Amino acid sequence: VERALSWVEANPPPVGVPPGARTPPDAAAYPEWKDWCERFHASGLATLQWPAQWGGAGLDADEAAEVTEVLAAAAMPLSLSDVGINLVGPALMAFGTSEQQQRHLPPIRNGTACWAQLFSEPEAGSDLASLRTTAVPAGDGWEVTGQKVWSTYAHIADWGFLLARTGTRAERHRGISAFLVPMDALGITVRPLREITGDADFNEVFLDSVYLDSQALVGGVGSGWRVAMDLLAVERQVTGRNIISLRAEMDRLAALLTVEPTEDLALLAGELCADISAVLALGETTPQPDGGAAMTKIAFSELNIAVHQAALDYVRDPAHEVAEGWARRWKDSYLYARAYTISGGANEVLRNVLAKRVLRLPAS
Ligand SMILES: Cc1cc2nc3c(=O)[nH]c(=O)nc-3n(C[C@H](O)[C@H](O)[C@H](O)COP(=O)(O)OP(=O)(O)OC[C@H]3O[C@@H](n4cnc5c(N)ncnc54)[C@H](O)[C@@H]3O)c2cc1C
Repeated sequence: VERALSWVEANPPPVGVPPGARTPPDAAAYPEWKDWCERFHASGLATLQWPAQWGGAGLDADEAAEVTEVLAAAAMPLSLSDVGINLVGPALMAFGTSEQQQRHLPPIRNGTACWAQLFSEPEAGSDLASLRTTAVPAGDGWEVTGQKVWSTYAHIADWGFLLARTGTRAERHRGISAFLVPMDALGITVRPLREITGDADFNEVFLDSVYLDSQALVGGVGSGWRVAMDLLAVERQVTGRNIISLRAEMDRLAALLTVEPTEDLALLAGELCADISAVLALGETTPQPDGGAAMTKIAFSELNIAVHQAALDYVRDPAHEVAEGWARRWKDSYLYARAYTISGGANEVLRNVLAKRVLRLPAS
């Protein structure tokens, strides 16, 4: 915690970046952002829960949460290495070969490699097992053809973590394998998709006969579903953990509201604070109840919308003066908030999973 406090003080976010920003506003801002990220990684604060063997701080979830609180209170921007640190790194530790680990974990740890997750397709989001991108044996390796969509950071990524079909479509999830893809490989085209926020941090990715060598396969032929399910469970946990940042956001908003409270907003702020505390308490429960990560993810994503709706109502009132960075940040966060109800598994689908597997409700 001490180290986090002194690091955030000595390393302000890149120039012009609003508090808590997600992505560089344009290509010109990218090098400075990347430089800041590399300093963040060098401090050891980016890989709090990675084991010491791979250069991590080896903290448990509670210790990591304390440090995250400090970083959230400082309104740090995102480090662009989230996919690598939280998803690809743990997947490689669990399923990668020793060569894959030696090659890829150090650059993720050091913040020098950016990763994209290449799972979703136009006809395969919630129903991921119906994906159509194929990987067929070619020489010593594989030839991959297909299309991915909503691939966050693919436009700046060095590597992609890809799911592709190595079996037949009838095999559904059993016919899926996972691959590591260099994003500069011949045959890859990345087209940015602009979101309602005005940013373009996710993309369409077209793969046209892309050759991957034999080192690209992770976890064996047909193991992709197991790898993906582990990775998506972590993604849900990571999204849910944003509740820590949301509390920091709520604290800032509540501080404003006590200066110029309107009764409605003050009441709402009280309710939101109570709900956030309840979700934090759920996240701190050990062992986690069955379905805990899904519950936290659903609760965080819905509270996140409510908090940013309240922030927006406050900002929109001409009687209130809000620092430029924060007004921009809250508008952006409000527009982006809906995304968390979809990414990492749509809330409706997660509710179905909770109903079936945790509450054991009968299928209708
Ligand atoms: C901001 C953001 C970033 C993302 N980043 C990535 C990324 O980096 N890599 C990646 O691979 N993907 C990414 N995704 C994609 C994400 O995983 C998918 O959007 C998600 O799985 C939902 O799939 P879909 O968009 O195809 O919607 P659909 O699956 O078509 O769902 C549409 C609607 O139908 C509902 N629905 C679907 N099936 C059911 C059901 N059985 N029961 C009840 N309701 C149902 C859903 O809840 C949803 O409301 C990202 C998405 C967002 C929003």
